[in-house]
Parts: sequence; C-alpha cells; structure tokens
Amino acid sequence: MKLAQTAKLDGAGLLPDPIVKAETILVSIPFESGGVPPWSFGGRPRNAFDTLMVRLETESGVVGWGEAFSRNEDVALKKLIDTRILPLVLKRNASEIARIKFDLEFQLQNFGRVGSIMYGVSAVDTALWDIAAKKAGMPLVNLLGGAFTGELEVYASLMRYGNCEDVARITKQAVDRGYRFIKLHEITIPEIKAAVEAAGPDARVMLDVNCPWSVAEALRYDRELEPLNLLWFEEPVWPPENYIGLAQVRATGRHRIAAGENAGSLHDFFAMIEAGAIDIAQPDVAKTGGVTELLKIAALCEAHGIEFVPHCALFGPGQIATMHINAAVRTTPILERLYCDFEAELFGGLNLPVQGKVSVPTAPGLGLEPDLNVIRDYQVR
Ligand SMILES: [Mg+2]
Repeated sequence: MKLAQTAKLDGAGLLPDPIVKAETILVSIPFESGGVPPWSFGGRPRNAFDTLMVRLETESGVVGWGEAFSRNEDVALKKLIDTRILPLVLKRNASEIARIKFDLEFQLQNFGRVGSIMYGVSAVDTALWDIAAKKAGMPLVNLLGGAFTGELEVYASLMRYGNCEDVARITKQAVDRGYRFIKLHEITIPEIKAAVEAAGPDARVMLDVNCPWSVAEALRYDRELEPLNLLWFEEPVWPPENYIGLAQVRATGRHRIAAGENAGSLHDFFAMIEAGAIDIAQPDVAKTGGVTELLKIAALCEAHGIEFVPHCALFGPGQIATMHINAAVRTTPILERLYCDFEAELFGGLNLPVQGKVSVPTAPGLGLEPDLNVIRDYQVR
C-alpha cells in the first residue's frame, strides 16, 4: 500500500492502533479563594483541588488525556482505576471508543453505575476521544460536528463562604473581573441575599445548594428566594436521586430547577426528565460517562426541550473536553469554572477566562497538553 493511502486510512482510524500504555496521574494543586476553606468533600477541608488524569498511549505513539472526578488527594480512586479499569483498556484498538466504553461498563456493572467506577470509565472515554481527534488532525469540537462558537461565556462558580462579608466581596470581585454569571453555593438566606445585592445589575446569579433539604424545607426556600430572581436553583433536595421531590419543587414554577452532576448515565437523565424534575440538565464529563455519554444526554435534552448545561468542577482534561462539548452545542451552554486562583496552572494558563470568556482550543485533540513540570511538582502518589 502506498504511504499516502496508509496515512489516509490511519487518519480515519481504520488501521488498528492498540493502547500499549495506560496510567493514572493524580495532582493536587493549592488555590486561593479569598475566604474560609471550602467544602470538605468527605475529607479534611483544605485549599487544594485534585486533578486525576488518565493517560493512554497507542502503539503509533499518540497520547490521549482524560479526567476522573476527584477530590482530597484521592489515591483510593486512583488505585481503583489502575487496578480495575485500565487493565481492561490495554491492547484495545483506540478507535473503538463506544465499544471500549460499553465493555468497561458491562464488565464492571456490579461495582456501581454511579460514582467511582463511572468516573474512571469517563476518563478513559475522554482520553480515547482526545486520541481520535489527534489522529484526525482536528480539534475535538470538529469531531463533534463543529463549533457554534470559538469563545465560551464562563460562569464563576463560587466556593461556599458561609458569611455575608466574604461572599459579597468575592461576588463583587468576580463581577469586576468580567463575569456576567455568578453561581453561589451558600445555603443560608442572609448570605444569598448579600451576594445577589453585591452582583448588582451587571450579573445574573444562580444558586447551588448541593442537596441539603427535605422537600418541605426546599419548598420553604423556594418561596423565600423567589424575589431574588435567580437564574436557576440547583439541587435543592436530598438525596440527589429524589427526582419526585425535585419535581414537587419545580412544580411551584418559582424557579428553574437544575440538577444532574450526581447522575451516572443517559438513563438517569431520562428518569429525571420523565419525572418532570429539571429545567436544566448538568451532566459532568468526568462523572457521567465521558464525551460519548454527554453527547447522548445533549440529544435527549434537545428532544425534550431541556436546557443542557454541563457541570464542570474540573481543572484538567475534563474541563477542556467540556469546552469542546459546549462549543459543539447550538445553545452554547455557559461553562462552569470554580472561582479560585491556583498556585500553578496545569495548562500554562491557556484555559483561564479573560473578562469572563475563554477560547476553545484549536489544536488537534483537546488542544491543550498538561504541563509535565506542574505534574512533577504537584503529583500525589
Ligand atoms: Mg452543583
């Protein structure tokens, strides 16, 4: 076969290119958020965020990066992915993205359809898409149908400060930095009111409370918060899979209800929508099955008239993948970014918003590669 033909076939992914190396890399990078330490995420509160990456390398030398949701130097999750998931990926043909994802999910179904296993599967799927786009010589967004925009509006997703002074000050700071959308994680009325007031007329405010309340409590807040004109009300009801309870809050019509970061797959979103639980679907590329699953969920949302706005409390390849996904959706969802400043930037600062906006990378694949020096300096083993 002539070389040109071989290259063409290879570029189309028609020649097998097995995964010969599969590893996880965990980094934890300190940040500053201008106030008290944020949520504990089940561990001790500290001002550092994990980025748990999956790195796949093919026989032809193409490297793909994915990300699994992780917090608090989660070496247990890293080990789980190392031992349960990655051995099943080795020797597989990298272009068989959907098939590999299905096989992983099927073989590991007894270990959980939501949570740690799915985080690992998500990371593998994203890394395979990175490889596919690199081999095709185009940015990921082109493989997803092409970009509706080259620049995404970013929303500042604030930490929970728990006091009026800090949350008002940081809200004002975010607006001054050019953010037009601010999401709060406060759960008490005075703090929420103080932040909405601080945001002023130039920014819309969303409220995310992370599932703290019974339906009755949520309905009380739903009533009390109505005058604040919040853009959306996120996860007001415990537990996250209480879709009927969520639907009861939504039925008041006082707020648009957002949820989905704790879902595991397309089918969870189908159930949410069937229950009438949400206006806004928030799947997370590092939790809900990677790029492949988010595309399915986007289509489901489109068919049901539900807004698709991915969750993204990520700072690694998952964040970059979310940028490509958002850019490929006609409604161009706003991109979530937890509001904090890191001691070191994994992508050399190229993914940092400027005036509340960020450019979608244009190089092949995810288009940004993690800085190996930052990995060396902040790696958790
Ligand atoms: Mg949330």
